[in-house]
Amino acid sequence: MANTPFTPGIAAGRLSGDVLAENFGDLHAPLDGHEAAVAADRCYFCYEAPCVTACPTSIDIPLFIRQIATGTAEAAAQTIFEQNILGGMCARVCPTDTLCEEVCVREVAEGKPVEIGRLQRFATDIMMRQPHPFTRAATTGKKIAVLGAGPAGLACAHRLAMHGHDVVIFDARAKPGGLNEFGIASYKSVDNFAQSEVDWLLQIGGIELRVGQALGADLTLEALKTDYDAVFLGIGLAGVNALGATGEGKENVLDAVDFISNLRQAGDVSSLPVGRNVVVIGGGMTAVDAAVQAKLLGAENVTIAYRRGRDRMAASVYEQDLAASKGVRIVTNVQPVAVHGNGSVREVEFEYTADGPSGLQGTGETMRIAADQLFKAIGQQLIGAPDGMVLDGGKIKVNDKGATSVSGIWAGGDCATGGDDLTVTAVAEGRDAAEDIHGALS
Ligand code: SF4
Repeated sequence: MANTPFTPGIAAGRLSGDVLAENFGDLHAPLDGHEAAVAADRCYFCYEAPCVTACPTSIDIPLFIRQIATGTAEAAAQTIFEQNILGGMCARVCPTDTLCEEVCVREVAEGKPVEIGRLQRFATDIMMRQPHPFTRAATTGKKIAVLGAGPAGLACAHRLAMHGHDVVIFDARAKPGGLNEFGIASYKSVDNFAQSEVDWLLQIGGIELRVGQALGADLTLEALKTDYDAVFLGIGLAGVNALGATGEGKENVLDAVDFISNLRQAGDVSSLPVGRNVVVIGGGMTAVDAAVQAKLLGAENVTIAYRRGRDRMAASVYEQDLAASKGVRIVTNVQPVAVHGNGSVREVEFEYTADGPSGLQGTGETMRIAADQLFKAIGQQLIGAPDGMVLDGGKIKVNDKGATSVSGIWAGGDCATGGDDLTVTAVAEGRDAAEDIHGALS
């Protein structure tokens, strides 16, 4: 008999191919031309628009919406890409409900913002079907090494290439894209969009991509500093924090980022095994992405467990509601104390928490949740920090232009201090570091 959500333990193919295809389809259908015109018409084109201030890449949102409203979507896309060359992906993954749309005056006045994210996708999708809109300046003869082909590295490389520099991007993985390719839910980036976006971005020219090249294993910073005029580090956070619970070394206690990555790289999601009972520990977007996808694969019971209250979860209210709408249970104010099971996880024991005079503390009361799989999504850490580089809070310390403590080396994205760990923030940091590198080399 075929597997179902009620098949005990861990099993693949809990749902039919048709249901899986529907589950992992596009989360939001793109707007058509008429819908985009109607949505754009709601914008007040505010002077000193709060949505622009809330955008980490400072896109001129009222301008691009006006360009859509006047029927010039290509001009709108140009406005977006000038600030954010990964505007296509950001239109899909940005938590707009906590950024531009949260402060939109129509949200404040009416509880319904202008659909900035969907309008951005409308415009960028049109232009990404056309030849690349930017051209390179005359070649400068300068060479820059960019480590990491994620959002920060790609944005940095593109801006440097526009200024006429030659760039080599090195990435440890077999494919470029970083978290856009390996770290976000499938339903946010369908039809291989992350790779299409990289291909489109590289059309600027002057950028060579070398994959399977890891800092520390295949590359050294000393050699790169010698061979290149500048180095940009966008290496992300490759380590996963430990739970600190007894028994967390048991089988099927897994990193949520690996689960998400395997799902993104799977040709056929029906071959992916998932537990009947799944527990995800964490409160951020990675926790939600893992939990929702476990549910979409057919897990019967999926629980997100978070140590503080819902209002402290890093995942936005929209993401929390999305999880709930898919049938994921969110349990708050619990912290893991033990993983039980004979070799493999069977139950996770939690202690309730409450705020005390010295911060969050356990109440002593415990409870257990059945789990065939336990996913850890409690944050990531920098591993392989280059020697001699000043760190701050476990990240590479940079100034407001992305310069590190080592002359000639810049950094941005999740591996560096400053800003939230978001795709859009990484793009802004990569872009701004590129401008600083360009200034330093000119
Ligand atoms: Fe338009 Fe809202 Fe931005 Fe005002 S705040 S310009 S209404 S999107």
